[in-house]
Amino acid sequence: MSELAASEPLDPATRAVTAGRPPRSAGADPNVPVHLSSTFVAHGEIGYGRFGNPTWQALESAIGELEGGQALVLSSGMAAVTAAMSLAPRDATIVAPDCLYSGTNDRLLLAEQHGATLRRVAADDTAGWLSALVGSDLVWLESPTNPLMQVTDLPRVIAAARELGVLVVADNTVATPLLCQPLALGADVVVHSVTKYLSGHSDVVMGAVVTAPTDRGRQLHEQLHRERTLGGGIVGPLEAFLALRGLRTLAVRFAKASASARVLADRLREHPRVARVRYPGTGAMLSIDLDGDAAAAERVCAGTALWLDSTSLGGVESQLERRRRHPSEPASVPENLVRLSVGIEDVEDLWRDLRQALDLP
Ligand SMILES: *Cc1c(COP(=O)(O)O)cnc(C)c1O
Repeated sequence: MSELAASEPLDPATRAVTAGRPPRSAGADPNVPVHLSSTFVAHGEIGYGRFGNPTWQALESAIGELEGGQALVLSSGMAAVTAAMSLAPRDATIVAPDCLYSGTNDRLLLAEQHGATLRRVAADDTAGWLSALVGSDLVWLESPTNPLMQVTDLPRVIAAARELGVLVVADNTVATPLLCQPLALGADVVVHSVTKYLSGHSDVVMGAVVTAPTDRGRQLHEQLHRERTLGGGIVGPLEAFLALRGLRTLAVRFAKASASARVLADRLREHPRVARVRYPGTGAMLSIDLDGDAAAAERVCAGTALWLDSTSLGGVESQLERRRRHPSEPASVPENLVRLSVGIEDVEDLWRDLRQALDLP
């Protein structure tokens, strides 16, 4: 294995399968077991169940390999967001998209209450990013943004931030490491809601932070590890096992869902009840603006049989949701917008179900 890896880098689809396995030896487990231990015999690598766990470590090495860095898993995506924001001082100037995942948005507003200054930029406004970065401490990136599906020019914005010494955090939940690896572009920290594509089966809530394989990255990793240990937002060993089991099929799930998303985006553009399709041209998510009001959007969500009217994304089951039903959703998200997370069901079944919901009187 190591010789093959050294001669030519393995494809991410392969690494999703091979990473985080126990060493191969006669009689060894092919998978890491669920280590249900709150403590460990003294003088070993891990002292206590809040400091580390061998099942977490297997998942962390797999996520780290996919993102090209060193990963730490936390109790939720928001725990990961909070840990990453803790890297900036309380009075930091933070540059962020003007519309992004609502939980992160609320967390930014909380940081503002505690002394931070926020500078907002439209996610696709490269000139806006470049000027807002000057004199800032941290830049928060999310591309494509959730749920408007706006794409940021990550190579340019990250390069500019690095030149200015601005700490770069990228939430890679929607893109996944299969589409984008922000650390390779120069980001300092990647954040994931593991709840979504990485685990992929709507049965785990979890987050991860990944830092670059550089001296600076290792320093940030130590800070984040301390934050997890003292914040106490740790992962259950069974959840870590389930997330790693889900991660094994990331590439096939994402390829299937992305192919279906493309087909659905094309057909939805032609549908008379759809005013606008927001699809970044790749990935497994899209949003549609209905030709109608909030109630029309709610009727579509309530009218499907296969698509699950539920929040969250990235599961094997297709999900849809009118995002503005949440009071915390930024007001720049239209009332009649429905976000679609395409799953791995047959695309013709998905289309039939969606079309009949759109065609309801
Ligand atoms: C869901 C989500 C989060 C938060 O993750 P949780 O696991 O729900 O805490 C953060 N960022 C993005 C882009 C998300 O979609």
